[in-house]
Amino acid sequence: MATLGNPKNTIEILQKYNFVFQKKYGQNFLIDGNILDKIVDSAEITREDCVIEIGPGIGTMTQYLAEAAREVIAVEIDKSLIPILEDTLSEYDNVTVINQDILKVDINKLVQERNQGKPIKVVANLPYYITTPIIMGLFESKVPLDSITIMVQKEVADRMQVGPGTKDYGALSLAVQYYANPEIVVNVPPSCFMPQPKVGSSVIRLTKYEKTPVEVENESFLFKIIRASFNQRRKTLVNGLLNAGNLNLKKEVIIESLEEMELSLTIRGEALTLEQFARLSNILWLKSF
Ligand code: SAM
Repeated sequence: MATLGNPKNTIEILQKYNFVFQKKYGQNFLIDGNILDKIVDSAEITREDCVIEIGPGIGTMTQYLAEAAREVIAVEIDKSLIPILEDTLSEYDNVTVINQDILKVDINKLVQERNQGKPIKVVANLPYYITTPIIMGLFESKVPLDSITIMVQKEVADRMQVGPGTKDYGALSLAVQYYANPEIVVNVPPSCFMPQPKVGSSVIRLTKYEKTPVEVENESFLFKIIRASFNQRRKTLVNGLLNAGNLNLKKEVIIESLEEMELSLTIRGEALTLEQFARLSNILWLKSF
């Protein structure tokens, strides 16, 4: 089977199977070998690694991953791609394709079974509509994980990487930075895909921290505080927290906490660092008993 990652061989295989692109699955296949090399290099995959690929498509990146890793588990939702993957991956005996929705896969169980519970690497050219649930699901379910190297919409990669005081800063930035160190690897123009997406893309590598950079009394309380603070971006932090239906915080407790942190009562959530959110959530958590 010819190596994919170029327009000619991609068109050939799509025609051979009369493949019809499914918009609902965000199917934009990579046709640029340099970008594929960059993704695999930046994921730092070795012969020791077990890699989970989300959405292998016709198996383009899977071929690159199979060359570098000990084992690749590729989870693809679209049943019509399965015969194509059997064809394009026939030369690799270290790839397992699972025809399932990644959001329904018990990844912890998979890691136990296939990698004896040791950390895996996740690599994906993600369907953009499920970027956030996939990333947050991997982090929150405590899957043993070294890193996630993923192609996402450029805007989303920017949001994951920025700090306070920028328009892109929000709940996603804080959630990602609580769990991992984000580094943008490369920006990828629409011309590197077939069909071409309407937006620019970026590859971002999220290297999971062994220990989170801040310590909190209660993680889910921290994330409730963060979400409430950004729910109404134009409102002050005090009002954002007060209006959150799931927090039940009293105004005087919020004010007291901000004063304890020497923060202005008119400050907005977007001005706080992760450390400040962690401290605020710890103060509020202890005051809420
Ligand atoms: N990895 C291939 C490449 O780089 O050329 C394909 C990437 S394409 C952007 C996204 C792939 O994810 C498609 O093959 C699509 O069918 C698959 N996909 C979409 N939603 C999925 C889901 N919920 N679970 C697993 N795969 C999914």
